[in-house]
Amino acid sequence: MFLIVQQRSKTFKVDGGDAEINVLAGGGAAQTETPEVADSGNVTSQQLVDEPFAPGHDKGSCLSRYESVLYRKLSSHKPSPYLFSKLGSNEKPDEKQDNRTSAPEFLKQSDSRNDSSQSSRMPDDKLLDGLLAPGFDERSCLSRYRSSLFRKISPHKPSSYLLSKLRRYEDLHKRCGPRTKSYKKACKRLKSGHGSSGGCNYLVWIPINGLGNRMISLASAFLYALLTDRVLLAELGNDMSGLFCEPFPNSSWIFPKNFSHKVEFRNHDERYARGYGNQLKQGIINESMESVPSYTLLNLDHSDYDLDRQSFYCNQNPSLLQKVPWLFLISDQYFAPSFFLTPTFNQEVQRMFPEKETVFHHLGRYLFHPSNEAWGRIIRFYQAYLANADERIGLQIRVFNTKTTKVRTVLDELFKCTQKEKLLPQVDPQNPAAAPSKNQRSKAILVTSLYTEFYENISNTYWAKPTVTGEVIGVYQPSHDETQHFGDNMQNMKAWAEMYLLSMSDVLVTSGCSTFGYVAQGLGGLKPWVLYKVEEEHTRDPSCVRDLSMEPCFHYPPTYDCRRNKKMNAGSLFPYLKHCEDLNWGVKLVSDHQE
Ligand code: GDP
Repeated sequence: MFLIVQQRSKTFKVDGGDAEINVLAGGGAAQTETPEVADSGNVTSQQLVDEPFAPGHDKGSCLSRYESVLYRKLSSHKPSPYLFSKLGSNEKPDEKQDNRTSAPEFLKQSDSRNDSSQSSRMPDDKLLDGLLAPGFDERSCLSRYRSSLFRKISPHKPSSYLLSKLRRYEDLHKRCGPRTKSYKKACKRLKSGHGSSGGCNYLVWIPINGLGNRMISLASAFLYALLTDRVLLAELGNDMSGLFCEPFPNSSWIFPKNFSHKVEFRNHDERYARGYGNQLKQGIINESMESVPSYTLLNLDHSDYDLDRQSFYCNQNPSLLQKVPWLFLISDQYFAPSFFLTPTFNQEVQRMFPEKETVFHHLGRYLFHPSNEAWGRIIRFYQAYLANADERIGLQIRVFNTKTTKVRTVLDELFKCTQKEKLLPQVDPQNPAAAPSKNQRSKAILVTSLYTEFYENISNTYWAKPTVTGEVIGVYQPSHDETQHFGDNMQNMKAWAEMYLLSMSDVLVTSGCSTFGYVAQGLGGLKPWVLYKVEEEHTRDPSCVRDLSMEPCFHYPPTYDCRRNKKMNAGSLFPYLKHCEDLNWGVKLVSDHQE
């Protein structure tokens, strides 16, 4: 555990200068508007053009919302009639939104759940088997309803129970989210320091670390919000501005920039003092209190806030925690598997996810829709380099510390892996003049890395020699920033576009311990080959392994059994929770029937 933290912080020092792991300053995010992306003009696009849009929608502000359908295959999984009845529900919010002041974009969206004609016009594949609610302004987020045209059909169908939880959550968010009366009242209570929930409880997610870490922890936070009926708000600072579309209909998930109460826990001492674990220990929060504090902080990151982690994972005083209206959460971890370890939540999460390894797959596809700007990058790259290949192979190559790990060593390990597993075609050194045979298959290799060496080496290999199979090979890398920066919006934009492009692969190789790869595999529903992390030039044989599931690895699972008062091994408790291939003390969800 310590080793990784240590190495990562070293990496940041080397690569990013002063880029130590830090909690970023807050602030809201604005969606960026982009010009319309040209239609691809293929058959599926024509189908889409034939699809009647509801009149009056702004078609220019989020091209990705509906264009993603152009790229994913049609789904063979049809939503149940029960889901349809849930989607067609006319549940009214308890409280009208207070939008007397000028309404932002999200308040202008039509609420088509009251418009059954629209939902019946929206094909199943666009809604990812009912995972997505219909009725968003399609043009303000083209990726939302068009992703199914670009990514493979997911064979994993969301459970009807998950769908009903999502629809209920959307109503809660609409009733309690920013700009509602409930929200304004809750903010007053937060300012005052004390007070009951008033019917709306909040979970404010605060980012740390790189984008992959952020996305897996945000998805985990959303699961917690679903389980505890809290409204999820995300502090998407300037560096995360304009990456994602709004995920919840007729509301926003952005923790507002102008939030008047300054919650201070941006340094270690503040974080420790305000942490839930410490407050329980010190008696600052206890069951006998007449009025609980209006907020508390949960530190669930990779570092040493053990009291918080223990109190949370042991589910100590859950009813007390539930009384606190505002819960601030700092995390860079995929802690979703912890809910399978908690008796309070175990049955509920099993009902939501009968296929255990689909937690991030479904929640990620529900939450993370590229903004039009990100979608434009994704689709332009995809159409230029990947769309016409018979097979797309994604190689995600992360070198955590170039001072202690030579790029050459990682490259050798990569070649060992792709050769042994027959992921890339062999070249034919005997026959250098051979041209690709006619009608041969083509393969596009997408390389993502901070560095150029991998791309250069692989593309040179296939330029210099023909493949023994006669296959045509194209090698492409969207960006190479050389160093990881913190607080860099454009680097996050590129990273997000690349994660998404990787998720459109047919075959995926990821780098062990990298959350960047976890996001790609989870969104794509891909079980990757994982390249073992090279630790200070120590390599392993074989150099890679087929992953156990598409789920991200939970790097720092609880190690203490609070009920039995002894140490526990989270990877040995359930058949569906196993130690990760890339990090032996981490755990990940796998399918029940796995060996
Ligand atoms: P992890 O550190 O590998 O777990 O992944 P994170 O996404 O949490 O942090 C790494 C960050 O470094 C990314 O968010 C990017 O900002 C940057 N980065 C690392 N690898 C790549 C890459 O292949 N492409 C791009 N564009 N950025 C990368």
